[in-house]
Amino acid sequence: MLRETPSNIDTIVVGAGPGGLYTAIELYRQGHSVAVLESRDKLEPVGDFVGIGPSVTKQFEKWPGMMQTYRDSIYRPDLFLLAHDGKQLGGPFHLSEKSDYRPVPISRTTLVQFLYDYAISLGIPVLFSKKVATYGESDDGTRAFVVTESNERFEADLVVAADGIGTKATAITNGKEIKAFSSGQSVYRVTYPTALLKQNSFLSNIYTFGPGQPDYCEVYLSLKGTMIILVSPETTTWLFTHVDTGSAAQESWAKTLSVSDVMATLSETEVEWDRRCLEIIQLTPSGSITDYKLTFRDPNPEWTSKGGRIVKIGDAAHSFIPNSSNGATQAMEDGQSLAACLRLAGKQNISLATRIHTRLRFERTSCAQKNGFKNREKWATNSFDAIRQNPLMAVKSIGRWLSNHDPEQYVYDNWVACLNHLVSGSGFKNTNLPPGYEYEPWTMDELLASGVQDVDSGDWD
Ligand SMILES: Cc1cc2nc3c(=O)[nH]c(=O)nc-3n(C[C@H](O)[C@H](O)[C@H](O)COP(=O)(O)OP(=O)(O)OC[C@H]3O[C@@H](n4cnc5c(N)ncnc54)[C@H](O)[C@@H]3O)c2cc1C
Repeated sequence: MLRETPSNIDTIVVGAGPGGLYTAIELYRQGHSVAVLESRDKLEPVGDFVGIGPSVTKQFEKWPGMMQTYRDSIYRPDLFLLAHDGKQLGGPFHLSEKSDYRPVPISRTTLVQFLYDYAISLGIPVLFSKKVATYGESDDGTRAFVVTESNERFEADLVVAADGIGTKATAITNGKEIKAFSSGQSVYRVTYPTALLKQNSFLSNIYTFGPGQPDYCEVYLSLKGTMIILVSPETTTWLFTHVDTGSAAQESWAKTLSVSDVMATLSETEVEWDRRCLEIIQLTPSGSITDYKLTFRDPNPEWTSKGGRIVKIGDAAHSFIPNSSNGATQAMEDGQSLAACLRLAGKQNISLATRIHTRLRFERTSCAQKNGFKNREKWATNSFDAIRQNPLMAVKSIGRWLSNHDPEQYVYDNWVACLNHLVSGSGFKNTNLPPGYEYEPWTMDELLASGVQDVDSGDWD
């Protein structure tokens, strides 16, 4: 890898998720030294898939060998939009790295594994079983530190909190936890080996694979829930977004429930579900279905500690609902931006780097969060005729403003103006938002009360 001149800045990244690992590699590439602390004992196959977009995958060109690894790893499905009973509404839309309809789906486990392998190949230490309990800054403001649950202390010039929605950094950046609102929905989700489909002649005749054939992605819509099926030769994933009765679901990938629980929820919808949905669910191995509660959090621009030596990125800074198809992408965009800001600022100006990074990134991530709500409203419809007439509208989940962006170049282009803005109060306007949209702060309460489809100016497509 072509690496910038060493900056003598040492950093710690807390969390080896997609955001943390990508950021660690970008920090390394920009000449900073970095170590990663992860609470888990090892990498485990947890979760199903995430979407990643071109604004972060194009960076793989700067990571020798990575573009090929990425291309070999993604799903390339033909996506069909269907009514709950299987009647076709639109498609196929072929999703691949060339597609601009949606980010490309990739197994989260695969993504984390190849980012981890790459980090290790560069010599970046990734230390497991390091569950960070506290973040802090030295009294003289020259160092940041973390303390783990087992009382180990690590310190660095900068600590990056990439520890996801339950981040422990909020205590120092915000002084209090950021409230999570229930969305009223949760998602049953699971991935299992496609080999299991062979046990079912109905399914094995539908999901066949010849050379060069695309993977399958079927989205079944209803007012009472959405079912997504993604089948590749190796893995079958299904997700059912449903009304959360408030009892079982948690923001956790650990708790599981049974097929019969899911079938009971399906029958409570009083909607006819296509046979493919029912049989794919029935085949699920016991103990593997997660019920993940969907919550919302208000956008909050306090990403840094008082001294600027602790900065939150990814879900720790801005959590996304899955309809955004953008949580992993924005976490990785953060990594490009932060690493570039640190390089321009240098060791003497670390807190300036994190302030500029936050000013350049907050409004964009806030708009990307809002975009998820726009997608959510598009799918929660019984107007199947409208979808039939314009299926691309329903399937396209990210606009050009999200995909055609270069977060690293954006830092170089805007550094001086943003610096002047922060130092002398001169005007500064971000241009990484939907064109024509004037950023306005928003809260969940306002959004839920007003709806989001038509109220915003600008080109969100
Ligand atoms: C286990 C898991 C499975 C997921 N599966 C999916 C999925 O299937 N589909 C989907 O859309 N999204 C999934 N997500 C969320 C998704 O990865 C993120 O929304 C997005 O990719 C942004 O990633 P992130 O790196 O900011 O956060 P995350 O992906 O949440 O990663 C955070 C990392 O920090 C670690 N961590 C947490 N607390 C501490 C601590 N105190 N000390 C040290 N390390 C800590 C976590 O173990 C994790 O490795 C999952 C998240 C997790 C943690």
